[in-house]
Amino acid sequence: MLVNFGSIRTFIFDINGTVMSWNTLNPHMEKLITTLKKRHKKVYYVTDNCVLTRSMMAEKLTKLGLKTKEDEIISSGYVAATYFESKGIDRVYLCGERGLISEFGNHGITVSEDAEHIIISIDRNFNYMKLKKIGDLVKKGAKLYATGMNRNWYVDDDVYPAEMSIVEAVKSFTGAEVTLLGMPSQEMKSRLLTDVFLFPEDTLLIGDNLKTDIKFGNMCGFRTGLVLTGESTEADLSGIAAEDKPSIVIRDARNITKNL
Ligand SMILES: [Mg+2]
Repeated sequence: MLVNFGSIRTFIFDINGTVMSWNTLNPHMEKLITTLKKRHKKVYYVTDNCVLTRSMMAEKLTKLGLKTKEDEIISSGYVAATYFESKGIDRVYLCGERGLISEFGNHGITVSEDAEHIIISIDRNFNYMKLKKIGDLVKKGAKLYATGMNRNWYVDDDVYPAEMSIVEAVKSFTGAEVTLLGMPSQEMKSRLLTDVFLFPEDTLLIGDNLKTDIKFGNMCGFRTGLVLTGESTEADLSGIAAEDKPSIVIRDARNITKNL
């Protein structure tokens, strides 16, 4: 399926691996996004990366040259916080970092060693005893949630583990199910569609991961565009289910800018 970029009113970008590789913007993204804003297109970001709060992420994008406001970002940490808040859950065990603690704090949720709900995210201090602790809580009946299921976190020219390897370690030890609150989950979809006024058919979601971003965009009824600057490669496109395919493969962001 081809996409008429000029007719798209809302552009939603995944952040890591799509717009940037943490400390640098990916090629031609600055020009594309500033042009979109000049043309009065709506621009939003979705991310499963919860190392930073939404406001810290907005600040980071702004410093990199993309003027961004907090409410232009829907992060899975924010989705998790609003989800727990809506369920009246005010205490969680956190396998994550300061950004997620702050995001939860903004919604009245405290982090506790003794909680009935466990949230798993990128945690650079994850270790054997944390895994043991999670196992103990699960034995007592605690439920598991994850902010994402990405394999890689792209940092400049390097690759760090994202949530997947920690989630898999927890699953393997506890044998328990993990509920996803990041992409492609119903919770992320309902948060996005509640916070952002958009028409799905006039919306394009651009991401680098077929299994998370593109699946999520398709699930929301958006047009979807796969960039090849991150997780998924052209070879990954063969043999995937029709509902997981992107509407278009974006080999060069300049192709959008010049066809707006
Ligand atoms: Mg990504």
